[in-house]
Parts: sequence; structure tokens; C-alpha cells
Amino acid sequence: MAYDQNKHIDELTAKLEKIQSQKDMLLKELTGTEETLQATVHMYSRYFPPILEYIKDPNSAFTSAIKNLAAALKKGDPKSKIEQLLSRVHTEMIKDTPGLTPAEQKGKTSFLSGLFKSSDREGGDAFLENLKRGYLDLINSLKGNIDSIYTQKLNQIASEILSSESYDNIAQQRDELFSLIQQYIYNIGSDREKITSFVKDIVKRILQIEASITNSYEDTNATAQYNEEFDNLLNRELSELRNSANVSERLEDLKTHVSQTLSSIETALKEKTAKDRAVKMMSEKNRSEFQVGFSKLRKELDQAIKHSKDLETKLNQDPLTKVYNRRAYTKHISTEMERFLRYKTIFSILVLDIDFFKKVNDTYGHAIGDRCLQEITKRTSQVLRKNDILARYGGEEFVVIMPETSSDGAVIVAEKIRQNIEKIEFLYKSNTIRMTVSIGVTEVKNGDKSHEKVFERADAALYKAKNEGRNRVVVG
Ligand code: GH3
Ligand code: MG
Ligand code: MG
Repeated sequence: MAYDQNKHIDELTAKLEKIQSQKDMLLKELTGTEETLQATVHMYSRYFPPILEYIKDPNSAFTSAIKNLAAALKKGDPKSKIEQLLSRVHTEMIKDTPGLTPAEQKGKTSFLSGLFKSSDREGGDAFLENLKRGYLDLINSLKGNIDSIYTQKLNQIASEILSSESYDNIAQQRDELFSLIQQYIYNIGSDREKITSFVKDIVKRILQIEASITNSYEDTNATAQYNEEFDNLLNRELSELRNSANVSERLEDLKTHVSQTLSSIETALKEKTAKDRAVKMMSEKNRSEFQVGFSKLRKELDQAIKHSKDLETKLNQDPLTKVYNRRAYTKHISTEMERFLRYKTIFSILVLDIDFFKKVNDTYGHAIGDRCLQEITKRTSQVLRKNDILARYGGEEFVVIMPETSSDGAVIVAEKIRQNIEKIEFLYKSNTIRMTVSIGVTEVKNGDKSHEKVFERADAALYKAKNEGRNRVVVG
């Protein structure tokens, strides 16, 4: 009996031990499941709100897919349903990854597009457009400010830039632009060192700006590559999840798998967010550097153009009368002569000298003489056409170049000038000063090899006019 009793106790003890160990196991399992559940809930609470925030449009396909998944998990829906929802989330997630063409991406808002908005996927083209716009602005500004002989070339560069589809092409046009600016500055001919160093500075700045654009471009490319890797990872994880869902019958198992898979996604997301943030910071920095650099460049170029313009004016203008000086005369008549020698385009010149001007100075003083010179040039300009060039040749002697005008036409203008000046009454104290001018006229002729030859003939005609009694026009 005692034996039976002992045996029974042993059996009970063994049973109890078994039950206790089963209980321990179950408790352990329960704790494990609770931990998994907690981790999953923690992850959802951490990631879902920011993910949802990413999507501006609450009606987007991705947003609704995420909401449905969250609801299903909360309700404890069957695994087949959860798997289906996960797969939809995934589909929406990768709908517009960087590998797709813009047409394919158009109109779709998804998780990745929300994320990648920050790294500005279309940045490459935008930078190219920015660059184009910057250069076209520069060219327009140059066109308005520098000599019109550069206009054609500037237009050509502008249209090349406009149709450029690559960086290299723009760079080539940029070099053309630089050499044109250099040429312009060289032609101005003075204060060259100052301007050359400025141009060097522009070149340096544009190169810096372009370097920063290239960096941003490369960053964007790196992001695209990284996104692809990220997408591959998601694909791998989700297909694993799908496989395990096929074999797993218990909801706990499925939950564990979901949890593990989501953990991998969590890690990937964490890495991605950190990387995206770095790329975003970098491209924002580059972009603002680009903008600051460019506006600075514009300002400096405007200043330099103004400076060059002032310089050009100073170099070509007579300070007393504000008409062209002898230097400008030589430049313009050389151009006319070249045109004549090449295309037989005729032109005429007038050489004008004030009669007995010395007497005006002697009688009324040099200051009054100066004012008379100013008045005479003013009245002469009024008679001339826009393309005519009035220049002070020296002292009280002036020259007018009349492009595409024969001596017949030039005589008419000369006569008008003579009469205009004759009519002027310069009032000085109680006196009225009257002045006359003598004018020699000639047109360029076959056989003239240089502009000096043309001038000599007009000067000889002027001499004749003086000899014949002054206040007259003589054609030579
Ligand atoms: P003609 O009819 O033969 O030309 O006689 P003219 O007195 O005009 O000729 P001349 O060459 O003997 O004298 C030119 C004068 O022009 C001498 C100079 O005092 C004056 N003159 C030259 N440049 C200036 C200037 O910038 N200002 C003033 N006030 N006078 C000047
Ligand atoms: Mg004189
Ligand atoms: Mg004279």
C-alpha cells in the first residue's frame, strides 16, 4: 500500500513538475510575445506618425494602405489579410522610386516620393536650368551695356546655351563668353589690368559655382543609387515575410515575423533618414551658396560694366564739349574706311573751323571762348543724323563723319550748320558776339587708300574756304 501510495505521489510530483515547467514555458512564451508586441507597437507609434506626416495628401494611395494595415494589425485580422495589406503598402511605397521616368511618376504620391522630396530628385535638371538662366541674364545684361558689335556673337552664345542639354555644352559657351568679355576689355584698351583681374575673379567665381552644382548633382545621383538599394532591401524582407506567412499557421509566429521584418525596415529607415538628412543639408547649402554666389557675381559684373562704360565714355569724349574726341574720330573713320575698301560703302566728312576764334578769346576771355565752343557743338549736333559722328579734332576745329552719304548730301548738311551758327547771338555783357565757321567737305573716292587721304582733301577744301573769305562751304 505504502508502495502504491509512494508511487502515486511520485507520479503526482512528476505531473506537477511537468505542469510547472509547462507553465514556465508558457509564461516565458507569453513574455516573449508581449515583448514582441510591445516592440511592434513602439515601432508603429514611432514611425507611423512621421510617415503619415510625410504624405501631404491624406487621400493618397500610400496613406490609405498604411491606415488599413494599422487597423488590421490592431484588430488582429487573419494573416492572409495582413499579408495582402503589407503587399499593397509595398506596392504604393515603390511606385515612384527614382528608376522610373517622370511620365511614370507623374500624378503619383507615395511614401518614397515624400521621403525623396527632401533630396530633390529632379534637382539635376533644375540646376541645369538655373545655370542656363544665370548665363542668359548675364548675356542680356552685357548686350545692353557693351558695344553693339558684340551683339551678334552674344546672341549666338545665348541661343547655344538655350538649346544646351548638357553641362559640357554650357561650359563651352561659358568659355566663349569669357573670351568675348576679355576681347571687349582688351578693345577698351585702358585700365586693362584692373579689369583683367576682375574678369579673372568672375571666372573663378563661376567655376566655384559650377563646382558646387556638380556636387549637388552627384549627391542626387548618390541618393538615387541609395534609394535603389533601399528598395531592394524592402523587396527582400517582404518576400521573406510572404514565404514565412505561407508556412506559419500561428498568429504569434506571424506576429514575430512581421515584427522582425519591420525591425529590418526600421533599421533601414533609420539609416536612410540619416543619410537623406545629410544629403538634404548638403544640397541646401550648395544651393544657397549658388544663389549668393550668383547674385554677388551679377552685382560685380554690373559694377564692372558700369565702370567699363564710364571708362569708355571718358576715353572717347571731349571733356569740354562732350562730343567725341580725336581718338574716337580715328576709330570711327578707320571703320568707315575699312568698310569702303571692302564693300565700296561711301561716306563723307566735314572739317569745320571757327573763323577768327582767336579774336573771341582775346576780346572776351578764354572762359567765354569755351562757352562759345559748347554752344557751337550743341547747334551742330542738332542738324546731324543719329549715325553721324561729330568729333573735336583739336582747338576750335571739328570733324563730322557721315556714313553712307555722298558729298552732295554732305554739302547740304554743312550749309545748314554754317547758317545755324551764323544766326547764333552770344550775349556777353552788353555785347552780342557773332561767329561764323568755314567748312571743307569731301566724300571718299576710288583711289583713296587711307582715311588720312580723305581728311587731307577736306582740310584743303577748308583752307580754300578760308582763303575765299571764310563763312562758307567748299567741296574738295
Ligand atoms: P581762322 O579764321 O584762320 O581759323 O582764325 P582763328 O583765329 O580761328 O585761327 P587760329 O588758328 O589763329 O586760332 C585758333 C584759336 O582757337 C587759338 C586758341 O586761342 C583758340 N582755342 C583753341 N582751343 C581752345 C579752347 O579749348 N578754348 C578756347 N577758349 N579757345 C581755344
Ligand atoms: Mg579758326
Ligand atoms: Mg583752327
